[in-house]
Amino acid sequence: MGRRSCHAQGDGAGGVSGKDRKPATRAVEVGRRPEWTGAVVNPPVWRASTHLYTDSADLAKARPNEDGQFYYGRRGAPTQWALAEALTELEPGAHATLLYPSGVAAIAGTLLALLESGDTLLMTDNAYEPSRNIAKNLLAPLGIETRFFDPLDPAGFAAQFDARTKAVWLESPGSLTMEVADVPALAALARDKGALVLLDNTWATPLGFPALERGADVTVMSLTKHVGGHSDLMMGSAAAGEALYKRLRLKAQSLGQVVSPDDAALALRGLRTMPLRLERAAASALAVAEWLAGRPEVAHVLCPMLPGAPGHALWQRDFTGACGLFSFVLSGSAPTARARFIDALELFGIGYSWGGFESLAIPFDAARVRTASAWPPAGWYPDDRLGVRLSIGLEDAGDLIADLERGMAAMKTA
Ligand SMILES: *Cc1c(COP(=O)(O)O)cnc(C)c1O
Repeated sequence: MGRRSCHAQGDGAGGVSGKDRKPATRAVEVGRRPEWTGAVVNPPVWRASTHLYTDSADLAKARPNEDGQFYYGRRGAPTQWALAEALTELEPGAHATLLYPSGVAAIAGTLLALLESGDTLLMTDNAYEPSRNIAKNLLAPLGIETRFFDPLDPAGFAAQFDARTKAVWLESPGSLTMEVADVPALAALARDKGALVLLDNTWATPLGFPALERGADVTVMSLTKHVGGHSDLMMGSAAAGEALYKRLRLKAQSLGQVVSPDDAALALRGLRTMPLRLERAAASALAVAEWLAGRPEVAHVLCPMLPGAPGHALWQRDFTGACGLFSFVLSGSAPTARARFIDALELFGIGYSWGGFESLAIPFDAARVRTASAWPPAGWYPDDRLGVRLSIGLEDAGDLIADLERGMAAMKTA
């Protein structure tokens, strides 16, 4: 076998410690095990429910919970193992990674695995709205109470703990409004109180925010976004140390969670180029954010990597990368003008999701979902209905800026 087909898996095999290599290198080499997937670059799509055992003794030896031991399709096959292992290798501090059929399934699976009746969860007030819905529609009926907190108020957060608080749910930057929380400080407070720290790291991925090293016990991602990267698959993941991983796996298996090998192969293909795509999208996003910051039609640019923007100092301190997703707030114009702006865009699609190769724009109204923190913040333009979220894709940044300029012009012609 050639060098490439039997390369190190990050465990120091062959005398080279893979973990020391840079993310772009890691994204190319991780999850490629010839003993699982053969001497080819990409793992074949293993479509299989049934493993055939050679004899009764072979069947008796089968171990359902070990990767590399094909047991039955619901427990995964080499295509899914390759993706899960690749994600684990990119996540400093992770023992292993569970795959779920969507990001929401990963969030629900994590919360269900780690909380039980009588427990209280503290959730950041800027969490992805479906995370809030999970608290309301899934956890509350099970007797698990959720309390929301202002992610920018660590003292208020600390005051919410009681003996029943078993976990906290963080997301930073928060959905839509992009506040950057002091995750290491909040995580330290939670650990002090004996609560688990669960974090939605979809925005940054481990390349931009090594969540387990910053204090999280479990890091959850929607792979639909950056890992997939091409707007053609739904998937989620949760990564953790060994003990918590085993609890997550038990619940995921009880819920019958499995992802298709086709989607796993697509996600793995996306993962190979993720560092490159993130770098390009983040650079274009910063260029667009800088341009927006200089426009009279824009009151606030909510982009953590933009110097002077809210959360920039914490982003600089804690993050090692960024992505193409950020928001801004229009100044002084009516919501109808916002609709004219968005409708005039030609390069930006109007749609949910993000992290694909194509740019998207949606209006957002954050006040509607807040319960524990003020939106807009005091002193900002008082109309909440002027927020726009952009997902910057791989188009030329100058073309995107020209498109936004077209939108600004359309806003004025009532
Ligand atoms: C999209 C998203 C999710 C959910 O992911 P799906 O794969 O769409 O279920 C979770 N968290 C955040 C921050 C998201 O933007």
